[in-house]
Amino acid sequence: MARNTNPVCKICKSQGEKLFLKGERCYTPKCAVDRSRDSSRRSSGPVGAPRRRRRLSDHGIQLKQKQKARHIYGIYERQFRGMFDEAARQSGVTGSNLLKLLERRLDNVIYRAGFATSRPQARQTVNHGHIQVNGRKVDVPSFIVKPGDVISWREKSKSSGLYQTANDNVGRRRQASNWITVDSENLTAAIDAVPNEDDVDTTIDTRMITEYYSRR
Ligand code: SF4
Repeated sequence: MARNTNPVCKICKSQGEKLFLKGERCYTPKCAVDRSRDSSRRSSGPVGAPRRRRRLSDHGIQLKQKQKARHIYGIYERQFRGMFDEAARQSGVTGSNLLKLLERRLDNVIYRAGFATSRPQARQTVNHGHIQVNGRKVDVPSFIVKPGDVISWREKSKSSGLYQTANDNVGRRRQASNWITVDSENLTAAIDAVPNEDDVDTTIDTRMITEYYSRR
């Protein structure tokens, strides 16, 4: 079997779980994490035999959670730290505030709505100026949406390949939860509320991220 050397997939492999960074490929047998699980299952010893795993320190666990969040949302360290500081300034639980901010990024909303197959593609969609918020073009992926906002495609972008991809994807891979209402016919998304932590399907432990930055 060919070895998967895709650098993006290596991030998932180092985390030991699927982070869904490659779009459609993540749902196919080509996924590097699925393939390595299959091969380790095949090559493992007797059923029930203990597996040796490197034990992480508390700091290592916290760092891993922070890196996972950064990779999932595709954010550089400096910007991520800035978002953490913003979350810490808000009232309430910092980790929860951070997750809400991450979810409300425009590129994430495009992904959640099913207008892109992955967050990197969603970021490209926004960067290329295909998206408008409340009728005004927004080409900043980190734009934070708020309740009442309506996200739509610019008229002149409806002939683009990314719009066609969105049209194909929206009915199949829509990730939107109950804080976004998606109109699959017109490819618009309405923000109904600020998401709760429960609304977000994630394995990120935000408490660990708070602890990571608290030590610094
Ligand atoms: Fe690669 Fe996607 Fe699988 Fe991650 S989930 S290893 S990005 S194919």
